Amino acid sequence: MTPPILFDNHGRPLNYLRLAVTDRCNLRCFYCMPEGGIRYLKKAELLSNEEMVRIVSILAGMGISKVRITGGEPFVRHDLMQLVRTIVEIDGITNLHITSNGVLMAQHVKELKALGIASVNLSLDTLDAGRSKSITRRDEFAKTWHTLQLLIENKIPVKLNAVVMEDKNIEDIIPMIELTRNQNISVRFIEEMPFNGEGSHYPRLNWTYKKILDYISSAFPTIEKITDPQNTTAYHYQVPGFKGNVGIIAAFSRTFCGSCNRIRITAQGNLKTCLYDEGVLDIKRLIRAGKSDEVIKGELLNAFLNRSVDGIEAEAARKKSLPVMESMSTIGG
Ligand code: SAM
Ligand code: SF4
Repeated sequence: MTPPILFDNHGRPLNYLRLAVTDRCNLRCFYCMPEGGIRYLKKAELLSNEEMVRIVSILAGMGISKVRITGGEPFVRHDLMQLVRTIVEIDGITNLHITSNGVLMAQHVKELKALGIASVNLSLDTLDAGRSKSITRRDEFAKTWHTLQLLIENKIPVKLNAVVMEDKNIEDIIPMIELTRNQNISVRFIEEMPFNGEGSHYPRLNWTYKKILDYISSAFPTIEKITDPQNTTAYHYQVPGFKGNVGIIAAFSRTFCGSCNRIRITAQGNLKTCLYDEGVLDIKRLIRAGKSDEVIKGELLNAFLNRSVDGIEAEAARKKSLPVMESMSTIGG
């Protein structure tokens, strides 16, 4: 059977779901959460595995084929691997990815490989254990590094995500690009967004994608722009002769909205059709009110057909007219 194709009201195909499976985390990254953490949702407010499987199945029937499990930290959820085993079996889901800080992941790498995981995005903002401790406010660098080695050994495609922060990890940019010399991995530098649970860290964004690119180009003058995969949020580059590549994600500047193919479901079961909206449909409420798949499908379709054209419009439409400051941990970055 030909898979269905889902479009939004701006003619953009939607085929990619980012599913935040928890708001809890074992780290306290500077750019994501305040040092004291965030107020976690009560367990009963989080979606259960059964509820997530039902939502993914409905969306798969509508045209979603790629799922990324994210959070919070997915692996703090004890039933995560059961969820992974079930999602890979859902008809229509052809690619399952995970974004993780890697601290609790090593013991699951072999099984993830066997289950056919498409790729893992690992958050690694620095190559220095001391700087990692100061950014994540936990001393767990060695575990993330070990997970990275296992992913490479098991030939699971890896992308490293590094949020670029003034006075925190600028000295890591060049050594991280050096990792792509002999390894076919992608190292992505992300503009810092104000989703940190406490508001903007700076009066204005200093490390824009343009500044990051200029900085990289001065160290690697021969770096070349390479073709970006379809619907990617990153601009891709490669140093000639290096095995891996470099991505820069203009997450704050929002230059990629025109080809955005993704929707999000937050840890409490809200649908977001844009990272910058405040949630456009409470799917958990529909499920817990006993609504049928058909009713839920209708509500989802309605939300897809009322999608903001870009992150600027979505931010302006926030009813609470509060500045964007919720933690990325509840949204699923
Ligand atoms: N805990 C997992 C991890 O860290 O990979 C998954 C969840 S985390 C919220 C997903 C991604 O969001 C990470 O790659 C992280 O770097 C990114 N992120 C979190 N807060 C951010 C912010 N304020 N600006 C830009 N990226 C952010
Ligand atoms: Fe946790 Fe990921 Fe947020 Fe860091 S970025 S605090 S690892 S959810």
